[in-house]
Formats: sequence, C-alpha cells, structure tokens
Amino acid sequence: MARAALKAAPAEEPETESGLTEGGDASKFHDHLSIRHKSRQKPPRHLADMTREEREQTVVDLGLPKFRAHQLENHYFAHFSVDPKDLTDIPAVQRQSLANRFFPKLITPLLTRTADNGMTIKTLWKLFDGARIESVLMRYPMRTTLCISSQVGCGMGCPFCATGMLGLTRNLSAAEIVEQVREAAKLVRDGGIAGGPARLSNIVFMGMGEPMANYRSVVSAIREISALPPLGFGISARNITVSTVGVVTGIKKLAKENIPVRLAVSLHAPNDTLRDELVPMNKRFDLETVMDAAHDYFLASKRRVSIEYALMRGINDQAVHARQLARRINGYGDDWAHVNPIPLNPVEGSKWTASKPEDEAQFIRILRSAGVTATLRDTRGNDIDGACGQLAARYFAEHPEDEAQFGAFDSIKKAPETC
Ligand code: SF4
Repeated sequence: MARAALKAAPAEEPETESGLTEGGDASKFHDHLSIRHKSRQKPPRHLADMTREEREQTVVDLGLPKFRAHQLENHYFAHFSVDPKDLTDIPAVQRQSLANRFFPKLITPLLTRTADNGMTIKTLWKLFDGARIESVLMRYPMRTTLCISSQVGCGMGCPFCATGMLGLTRNLSAAEIVEQVREAAKLVRDGGIAGGPARLSNIVFMGMGEPMANYRSVVSAIREISALPPLGFGISARNITVSTVGVVTGIKKLAKENIPVRLAVSLHAPNDTLRDELVPMNKRFDLETVMDAAHDYFLASKRRVSIEYALMRGINDQAVHARQLARRINGYGDDWAHVNPIPLNPVEGSKWTASKPEDEAQFIRILRSAGVTATLRDTRGNDIDGACGQLAARYFAEHPEDEAQFGAFDSIKKAPETC
C-alpha cells in the first residue's frame, strides 16, 4: 500500500493521560476508571516521584543539608537499597525518618511463582491500597528481562485477555512502576534467580495496563530507569520496550521525547474488520492510522518497531492473514518492523485458543518469504499463569475474601489468555 494513499490521522486527537479516553462509552472498551477511583487515595510520594530539586527541597525542609538528598538517591538507584540500616553515611538518628519520608512501602509481594528451572519468576504485588499488579522476571543466556505493569488492570477491553476483563482500576504512580524495577534489579544482583548473580538488563512494558494511557508516569519512570546512577538505574533506554495496543496520541508524543526506547505495537489482526473485534481501540485509531504512527516512530527513533501478533486458532492465524500483514508492513518499505507472533495458551472450551503448530509455522514462513522478519515469541512461564492478569485471577480464586474489594472477578477466573 502506497504511503500516500494511507488515511490521515484525525486532526483533533483526544488526550489519554488519565486513563479516561473520550468515546470510551460509545465503544466496546471500558477505558474508564473504576467507580471507586475517586475515593482512592494517591500512593504516598516517594523519592522516585520527585525531581532532584524536590528531593533537595524536602531534606532542606527537614532541616538537613541538600547533599543528604544525593546520598539517598545513591542508595536507591546505585545500590537498590531502602533499608535504614544501609544508610551508613547518614547519622544514625536521621536514618529511619529519612527512609520513612523518601521510601514509603509501595509494593509488597503477595505471591511468587517460579518456572523454567528457576529462570522465570512471576510476582503478584500488593499496592498500598490493596490493588494488585504483576511483574515477570525472565533470565536468558545473554540478558535478564523484566516485564512490568503500568496500570492496575487495563481499560482496553481486548476480549481474549485476562487483564482486559479486569477493567481499569487506576494508573500506577511513577514510583510504583520504578519500584518493580528496583525489586527485580536487587533480586538479580543478589543471585535470586537461577544462574547466579547478574544484572537486570532489559525492561518491557508488557504487563498489566496500556502504558500510553498512563503516559506521564510511564515516561517519568523510563527516564529514571535509564538515567545513570545516582539519578537512575542505568539500564540503557535502548533496552526498554514500550508496548501499546495502538494509542496513536501516545506514540506521537513518545516519538518527540527523544528517548531511544523500542516501540512495540500489539496489532493482532491485519485488517480493520478483524481488529475491531479483537482490539476495541481500533475503532478509535484504525489500522492505517496506527501503522502510520508506528512507521513515523521508526523514522524518528531509527529503531525497528516490534509488531506483536497473538496467534489465535482459526481467527487470525491463516495464510490470508499472514499475506495481508506482510503487504501492510511492506507498504512502508523494508526492514522497519519485526513481527513477533505470540502463541496463546491452549485453554479447553475457550474460543480464544492456540494456533495449530503447522499454522504457526505457515504464518512465519509466509512473512519471511515476503521479506518480513519474524520470530515466534517465547512464552515464558505459561505453566505459572504466565500471561498478565492470570496470576491475579488465580489469587482471587484462592482468596475470595479479597475479591469483594475489587468487585466482579468471576470472569477472569475463566479468562483464557492475555497480551
Ligand atoms: S491485550 Fe493488552 S491492551 Fe488489550 S486488554 Fe489486555 S493488557 Fe490491555
């Protein structure tokens, strides 16, 4: 398809900062915050929510010299430490109160599951208000990757997804995102994952939530994850991937941030009719608008875009779909995108189930013979409710007393799979 023939993006684009997106009621997605949202308190303010100036001002307000803020940054970002006992360069009498002020407990592990001979660790975290999120740590021969959440639940409403069935509860603060990274970086450094001590090298925003619907906190977290110590963890921005279901406003903003993160677009369908059904956000930003934005991101960042494509048996995994997808990608030129077909977990009795191996192989063969690079994505942790939302679903099934707090979770107990 010639680029010139592509449909132009809408002139006026809705803001998506708050998770509330205009038109949410008119479409199938439930991208509105939960009814209890207004009564929810904000997470306590944490060092990772503050600018350097705000940290300095906070210690000055406590009657302490500015450099105490720099010492705290160093403990947090360079040593992953929040324990007052570790603040040995700060007078003993000040340690506890500074830790209370700068390092409030934001995330607490509720449930941990291990798979792949200890190389995959999935954690269900409890937040300060009782909300739950998940993260997954995966060790590979050359890297260690953490998949993190950006929201509690997700409002995008993809019908095949456990998290989508939760709906959106609230956005995470920047520090709630950064804390997932600090906990994992510490665990990996201390040899808490099979294979011995190592360094957390890669971050993917592919856990619960749509990162572009919590844009400000996500970008602030990315800056702290990638800045060099003592202002960040020093994980290269080139090793950070931000995944979106196609929130074009967010893709455009991210392209202007000048941070070389990789963009991943969860496409899941090669035409609008099918994508309208699988990804309700497609009714807001259609396939051409999303592909235009993804290609523009490639031009701006010079980084290949990942196209995520969950293969669902008999739904989007046939030869015709692979050919359509290849045509769409090639319409923008060569070597700008890499397709990651993702096998779904087979779940008995579900409409959304895994492709047949021969269909997966055929899908990849067609893409490759059309000159599109494609790699079947590794599905780490499938035996531990590996997909986002599934561990939360399991937890609520086992702890019905907690379920009342969050309302209707029945549907996700049976939910087949997610992104
Ligand atoms: S597939 Fe991704 S974007 Fe869609 S509902 Fe699930 S978490 Fe949200």
